[in-house]
Amino acid sequence: MFPVVMPTYARADIAFERGEGAYLWSTDGRRFLDFHSGVAVNSLGHGHPRLVGALIAQAAKVWHTSNLFRVPGQERVAAKLVAATFADTVFFCNSGAEAIECALKMARKHHYDAGRPERYRVITAIGAFHGRTLATIAAGGQEKHLKGFAPAMEGFDHVPFGNLNTLRDAIGPETAAILVEPVQGEGGIIAGDPDYLRRLRATADEFGLLLIFDEVQTGMGRTGSLFAYQQLGIAPDIMAAAKGLGGGFPVGACLATAAAAAGMTAGSHGSTFGGNPLAMAAAETVLDVMLEDGFLAHVGAMGALLRTRLDTLAAAVPAVIEEVRGVGLMLGLKLRVANTDMVARLMDNGLLTVPAGDNVVRLLPPLTIGEAEIEAALAILSRTFGEVTP
Ligand SMILES: *Cc1c(COP(=O)(O)O)cnc(C)c1O
Repeated sequence: MFPVVMPTYARADIAFERGEGAYLWSTDGRRFLDFHSGVAVNSLGHGHPRLVGALIAQAAKVWHTSNLFRVPGQERVAAKLVAATFADTVFFCNSGAEAIECALKMARKHHYDAGRPERYRVITAIGAFHGRTLATIAAGGQEKHLKGFAPAMEGFDHVPFGNLNTLRDAIGPETAAILVEPVQGEGGIIAGDPDYLRRLRATADEFGLLLIFDEVQTGMGRTGSLFAYQQLGIAPDIMAAAKGLGGGFPVGACLATAAAAAGMTAGSHGSTFGGNPLAMAAAETVLDVMLEDGFLAHVGAMGALLRTRLDTLAAAVPAVIEEVRGVGLMLGLKLRVANTDMVARLMDNGLLTVPAGDNVVRLLPPLTIGEAEIEAALAILSRTFGEVTP
């Protein structure tokens, strides 16, 4: 019989029934240290008291009303995001791919309204990941995601990540925007060179293009600042956020300057669920916690500590670990043995991690992680890497 849950994932044969902080308990009674965080989603860990409280309080009031009415939670979360970023305005949706869809539609509409309807193409990076909808698999351009789903949506030009000359060569009279992840996540924790990312801003200005940052994975504190662009001294025109934004509740957001978003008038875009009261209760609480004094500094400190300990580990097992990469608490180990095999072994030893492209194991702990949990993770990593060291 065909599986009742459509078999689109290669799932590990394990299920969790309870979580607390950085730990998860499986239905068969085992405890795991969670350096997976639902793929960079559970930014405040599991069962964060303020998040639980906010969601329960909102659940007792009203869950959903639709976007045909004002949603006060959206107005509050948008105001907080606007105050904390380059953006003037925010559209709420439910996922990262939807946030990117909004960004792509906005880029087309921006040029259309300016009398340049021929400008619709978007330059993206090879190895990028922007989601699994028809438009976002075309944006990512990866054969493994596109195969069998032809024809790919038209309008994306893929260039090597980090090479400004090839990017400039790809700009033509039909180019509308440049779309990049400041740190490629699914691609293997590949951090964009800060100088390259800054030059993208200058290049976009030179050619009248919009600069779109996909901060679905890098955003919401993951790299040590609220958004990764804030470490660069430049800002995009449009930015997609999701993953960590709801702390585990599905929330996506597309942030933009007023100039970029000018065409997004009533009727131009929409989402039934986007930014409903429950989602906004979660997002507002996550934002409040992250913007409190010391939270982002803690991410930076824990990221530096984890990085130092991983560098020491890598030096001890050079036959297994080729490189430690990443920014803040978005770290990766590029391996010389199969990453999926290591992820399985680490899980057997009680540590959850995430595989990524380029044979990388991603370490994405909750941003609330402490020193003791980092040491506990290192103990499991050392033991597990010891098992496979020739
Ligand atoms: C996860 C991810 C997406 C897609 O988000 P979904 O919520 O799965 O649609 C897009 N871009 C980046 C950089 C991501 O990491």
